[in-house]
Amino acid sequence: MDCLFCKIIAGEIPSSKVYEDEKVYAFNDISPAAPCHVLIVPKEHIESANDLNEENADILKNIFLTAKMIAKEKGIAEKGYRIVNNCGEDGGQSVKHLHFHLLGGRSLEWPPG
Ligand code: AMP
Ligand code: ZN
Repeated sequence: MDCLFCKIIAGEIPSSKVYEDEKVYAFNDISPAAPCHVLIVPKEHIESANDLNEENADILKNIFLTAKMIAKEKGIAEKGYRIVNNCGEDGGQSVKHLHFHLLGGRSLEWPPG
């Protein structure tokens, strides 16, 4: 499949890995928007939040627990952080493999643009 994040998970394209287990892969964003900017993705190819269903949505638990664990490891848990999913064109999704941004290490603005 011609998917950038599937290739990263498979090790065909290099990445700065932060965490990996049976179901989840996490790596530093190549263009960080904050001092901590980690992408957390399911190893299973799911295109976007629109493609979540009763069968595959259990992965969200793994993703959020991974985000929490990484936030603690990076020392940003106490001050806070943001977990973001962009879905589709209007949501600003540029890579069509479900991913969650873990952003922190500075005060983040709200609302987003
Ligand atoms: P989104 O815009 O929500 O689809 O997020 C895609 C993210 O992937 C962006 O923040 C990019 O900077 C990031 N990205 C694109 N290519 C790579 C790569 N090869 N390694 C790490 N992050 C990447
Ligand atoms: Zn993929």
